[in-house]
Amino acid sequence: MKLVVRVKVLPTPVQAAALEATLHACNEAATWAASVAFEKEARRPLELRKHTYAEIRFRWGLGAQAAQHAIKKTCDAYTTLKANLRNGRYGRPGTKRHTRASGKPVAFRSEAAQPYDDRMLSWQHEQQTVSIWSTAGRLKSVAFTGQAEQLEVLAAHRRGESDLVFQGGKWLLIATCEIPEAAPNTHPAGFLGVDLGVVNIAVTSDGERHCGRRINRKREQDRNLRSELQKKNTKSARRRAKRYAGKEARRAKDINHKISKGIVAEAERTGRGIALETLTGIRERARLRKPQRATLHSWPFAQLGSFIAYKARKAGVPVVYVDPAYASQECSKCHHIARGNRPAQAVFSCRVCGFVDHADHNASHNIAHRGWMAWVCGVQSTAPELTLIT
Ligand SMILES: [Zn+2]
Repeated sequence: MKLVVRVKVLPTPVQAAALEATLHACNEAATWAASVAFEKEARRPLELRKHTYAEIRFRWGLGAQAAQHAIKKTCDAYTTLKANLRNGRYGRPGTKRHTRASGKPVAFRSEAAQPYDDRMLSWQHEQQTVSIWSTAGRLKSVAFTGQAEQLEVLAAHRRGESDLVFQGGKWLLIATCEIPEAAPNTHPAGFLGVDLGVVNIAVTSDGERHCGRRINRKREQDRNLRSELQKKNTKSARRRAKRYAGKEARRAKDINHKISKGIVAEAERTGRGIALETLTGIRERARLRKPQRATLHSWPFAQLGSFIAYKARKAGVPVVYVDPAYASQECSKCHHIARGNRPAQAVFSCRVCGFVDHADHNASHNIAHRGWMAWVCGVQSTAPELTLIT
């Protein structure tokens, strides 16, 4: 399984200037190569190389590897463009948009990503530095940083090329890692259902509750503080508001990592699969008071879902996605569905059989049941091809 890890590069001012000059040169060279490719209709690396390689090396001072990568990047961009034109992303042939996209050469932003292979970039994981090629020569001991979990994955599983990019005022290296997967469990002993919600972020059918009350209170405080700062609208207030937003996002991610880890470990330990609700359901389902709605819309449930899917796949735990419609109104014992089964937000009480339970717990049982039914009907485990940890 592929995993993309992004780490922040912390160059000294001198190193940063060299990296900037390098990125600009590579992208200028690629843009020029793209115009040649367009003129001569040379869209394949071998062919384009004949027309551009010598001049790229001479005019922009790119090394042999960098020149080849600039040419390859250009060809890849045309391949992507061709695919996008074919699948209608620019409208039909003959329309203005289509003509505009196909009628001129591809161009690269001066800070667009540049691929680096192992000859141009080496990693010293213990020192947390890289040695990286630049147009001003090899830069040694360029520091990088990332979360402990990312650095571990990077040190153990990085493979192939990495991209250097300047984004939002930060230098980043985006590395691809190849993570070993456990053999998939093809005969799960049932499914662990997960109900996602506002009051409780996640409740499993085993009754484990990942309570959101404390987290939500903190989030609300932060949000209020942020909106106060935004009202002030001074430079320092805006900067502080941004810092709070970043802090909140990191905390939410950390919580999502913990919740997903717990859920996957439990499913793995008991030989079960995981049933998740499709995420479109959660917003439609919620009829809530305003403050709760704000929480719901900003909690990164999609991130939680992708963390569960990724960790499950790594552990060989099958995941199925089920339609959560009426899961909160359905009795998990007799399957009677009625709005009246929910006398209060937190309480489930069946009008027909009298079964009483915590509302989210009851819903997670329904999701587990639906997951099992979907599995029996032959739904395959679906995990995304590429997951991003940032
Ligand atoms: Zn019932």
